[in-house]
Amino acid sequence: MRKTLLALAIAGVGMSAAHADDWFVEAHYPDHAALVRGAALFQHVMVDAGRQVLRVDTDEDGIRQLEDAGLSVSVDAGDTARMRAFYARIQDAIQSHQPAETDGGYPSIPGYACYRTVEGTYQTMDDLAATQPGLAEIHTLGPSWQKTQNSATGYDMRTLRVTNLATAATDPDRPKMVVFGSIHAREYTPAELLTRMAEWLVSGYGTDPEATWLVDHVDFRFVLQANPDGRKKAETGLSWRKNTDTANGNCTSNANSSGIDLNRNFPFHWNTTGGQGSSGTKCNETYRGPIAASEPETQNLVGYVAGTLGGNGSYSGGALPDRRPDDASTASPDDYAGLFFDIHSYSQLVLWPWGDTPGAAPNRTPLQTFGRRLAWFNGYTPEQSDSLYPTDGATDDNFYGTLGVPAYTIELGVQFFESCSTFTSTTYPKNFAALRYAARAAALPYRLPTGPDAYGIGAATPVAGAGGLYTTVTATIDDVRYNQSNGTQTTYAISAANAYVDRLPWEPGAVATPLSAGDGTFNSKTEAVSGNVSLVGLAAGRHIIYVQGLNAAGSGTPGTPNAVFVDVPQAPTMVTATPQVVGDGSVDPSTPQTVTSGTTLSFTVTPGTGQHVVSVSGCPGSFAAPVFSTAPLVSSCTLTATFEPDQFTIGGTVGGLGGSGLMLSLNGGTSLPVPANATSFAFPGTLPYGSSYDVTIAMLPAGQACTVIGGSGTVDSQITDIAVNCGPGASDIIFRDNFDPASP
Ligand SMILES: [Zn+2]
Repeated sequence: MRKTLLALAIAGVGMSAAHADDWFVEAHYPDHAALVRGAALFQHVMVDAGRQVLRVDTDEDGIRQLEDAGLSVSVDAGDTARMRAFYARIQDAIQSHQPAETDGGYPSIPGYACYRTVEGTYQTMDDLAATQPGLAEIHTLGPSWQKTQNSATGYDMRTLRVTNLATAATDPDRPKMVVFGSIHAREYTPAELLTRMAEWLVSGYGTDPEATWLVDHVDFRFVLQANPDGRKKAETGLSWRKNTDTANGNCTSNANSSGIDLNRNFPFHWNTTGGQGSSGTKCNETYRGPIAASEPETQNLVGYVAGTLGGNGSYSGGALPDRRPDDASTASPDDYAGLFFDIHSYSQLVLWPWGDTPGAAPNRTPLQTFGRRLAWFNGYTPEQSDSLYPTDGATDDNFYGTLGVPAYTIELGVQFFESCSTFTSTTYPKNFAALRYAARAAALPYRLPTGPDAYGIGAATPVAGAGGLYTTVTATIDDVRYNQSNGTQTTYAISAANAYVDRLPWEPGAVATPLSAGDGTFNSKTEAVSGNVSLVGLAAGRHIIYVQGLNAAGSGTPGTPNAVFVDVPQAPTMVTATPQVVGDGSVDPSTPQTVTSGTTLSFTVTPGTGQHVVSVSGCPGSFAAPVFSTAPLVSSCTLTATFEPDQFTIGGTVGGLGGSGLMLSLNGGTSLPVPANATSFAFPGTLPYGSSYDVTIAMLPAGQACTVIGGSGTVDSQITDIAVNCGPGASDIIFRDNFDPASP
């Protein structure tokens, strides 16, 4: 009867060979107990509490089990068709040999260009490490199960490490953020989400302030493909979840159900729920394996993340520190640095330990607080992992349980078969934001999420003030970003905000610059803040400013910081042009002029009276009297203006000169012969302005006497008005002049 109803319900739904028996169903549960019974049959169910239905993809066996558990099942024909079309598209693409590549040219799952294959993911890792060897490197964890069987098959498991490797050695306490992707093979979206995050970190370093500070201060360890053998199966369109181990997990009734569920194979609290949280049946999708950590993938991952378990019960040598005994009651210290995430799909959940018991993890309160922060970003339901159904031997319990690291499972999306458009527009951006928040909290993940987040940080172009260069920093401090859909998280008013230049708030030497509430008072749970941050003493170039807010909990609880770049300009080079005067004249301005390099200046050059400019030199430029215009000045110079007096000739008129022999003398020196009958004279050469002249007669002409009128004075122009007048009787005069009284 039921099969008939199902057949009617999905009339018209297309079939693909691998999924002809799979259905997407809604199961109505009459009460919570029935929900728990139903959910425990599966992994990744969607729960719509309002309608009291769970949604899941399953086969006829699963439908029967749901009905046996007391739920009433109906087929979602639309989603069943979409699911089958999704897998059919992969198989069609494979059969038609269509090339499958991402936009970046990496091999992708046939028919779904947005999801890189194992090879595409590995190629991306290789490229990031090759092009940015200072920021990314590859760690090899060990062989997958297939590779342990035949080294020509399977994969070496890999971690992509992203951090500032140049400074990592001197920063040994840099928090590690370990993230697994797609440990369940058919979950296509987790590996791609993490690969894109790694690409963002590497490509954003130096250009995106958040990527830059996270790469500088967080040591990311991305296990992008945590189950490469199984993923390879899933890339053929199989709904493959487990690894491919047919030695430990051979399902004889259905080869496609072989393998071990790696996320039930981890050693901490392995098989502790009496079969409720994992299965002992090899064909079951949650088959836990014959013993704890039976699988090479599990061993590789534990060895890489936790290290080696010593005789003292403590792990060492792994990526994350062991700071908690492996009991169920001792809390990890709240200054634990580091994070663990295991990303799955689907169910839209943010989960924290424990998964194998409803009992509270010893760090339950901060785990819940952080989980509610994460769930604000992706909009998923935050809850303890055990809330719907138990799991044992899972990754999050294992690493929290053995190390004390805050450990989360995020279940992405609503279906395994997520279209590229849904992934790109919704699943990726929401969860990328959640993981960025996580990274901002990685240094103190048990503490920082109890304080507010900081976002929208800006820094204005630096300006020079009375105290020197500064920038105005703006930000929003927000304490309300919790997902409140599952319980109530208390929120607080913002109490303060501080900016820090080039150092995180908790780094030695960090100096806090208080920021002010934009509305004048810190009294709201969301506050716009701003303040001026001094840049005095900083080298020219790019710097980073962190902003951290505090809420009013306790004596002020600091939250997750974020950052913005500020570019400090080169200090301007100053040059000085010093005017200098040689001679009688002036230069205006007359004092040294100090200006920024590249500036042009003008000087007015004015000779003194009776002076002229000989030269203006010493600085590049040109002189167009009376102004000297410099070229753009790039170095200091002395502008020398040289003046000298104007020069004038000395001369005049001669009257009555009949004879020859007249000689005139200038200033008792130069003699000028004046020929007979001359009517004018001029001395050769010149005298400078302001000098004295005195023209006298050195020798009279024959037979004549001459006198000089106006023969002396001060040179102030051309002298042309000296009159030499000659006339007869000169001999007497000569005689008298030559008369010697002592010789009559
Ligand atoms: Zn999963």
